[in-house]
Amino acid sequence: MRNFLRPCLFSVLLLAGCADLNFYSDEDLEPLSVQAYAEAQEQYPEVKSGPDHDMVQRVAQKIAAASGENFAWEAKLLKADDVVNAFCLPNGRIAVYTGILPVTQNEDALAAVLGHEVAHATKRHGGKRMTQGMLTQAGLTAADLAMGLGKMSDESKGMVMGVLGAGAQIGVILPYSRDNESEADIEGIRYAIRAGYDPNEAPKLWERMAALGSGGPAWLSTHPDPMDRAAELRKRIPQIIEEEKGKQAKPTKSVAPGAVKK
Ligand SMILES: [Zn+2]
Repeated sequence: MRNFLRPCLFSVLLLAGCADLNFYSDEDLEPLSVQAYAEAQEQYPEVKSGPDHDMVQRVAQKIAAASGENFAWEAKLLKADDVVNAFCLPNGRIAVYTGILPVTQNEDALAAVLGHEVAHATKRHGGKRMTQGMLTQAGLTAADLAMGLGKMSDESKGMVMGVLGAGAQIGVILPYSRDNESEADIEGIRYAIRAGYDPNEAPKLWERMAALGSGGPAWLSTHPDPMDRAAELRKRIPQIIEEEKGKQAKPTKSVAPGAVKK
């Protein structure tokens, strides 16, 4: 818990509507991330070899490096042909379900998916969402809030897990805010470009996702209308490519990415 926020309870109340608030450090989220990852792996067996496995490792490694974030990255392909989904938990734990591969169809589109998911982690959307959830669940009374913020006790962790849905029923992904989704789309495209992938596969992928219909893929239940996202990205991609070219032209200090653990 970030202690410096404690004296500002009343400002916190006023700011509760601000989606960018985050009371949770990476360390706070680590046990939750570990638990959610373990739960996902209990549900479905891991694919430990083969071309799909290799592709997931390759894309995850490149996207992780392109993000410049120094997480202890991990990536796993889980055998679940009926689960059209992928996620990246706080602190860089990535999972791809085999069910999304017929929709991604190619490595560039998988890079768009992982770019998006990794951006949720690097932009700390999990902590922000949990902050929102905690404030809502706390009923926004100063007393509740003071208790919740004052100590990260087992009870408050329990409450936080409740907010997270404990990862069990709806998978480890709950809906992020629209702003978070848009930010992850744009940032994810940047990672894909930096990793050498074709960003133009992203809108095509969202359109394929849309064609699967609502109520189908798990991805759709937690993400805004894919046709809207595809249209927005089509508009933005040329400009993003230019911006990324500009960045590459300048000498930047190289980031030594951590290896992605299998
Ligand atoms: Zn998302």
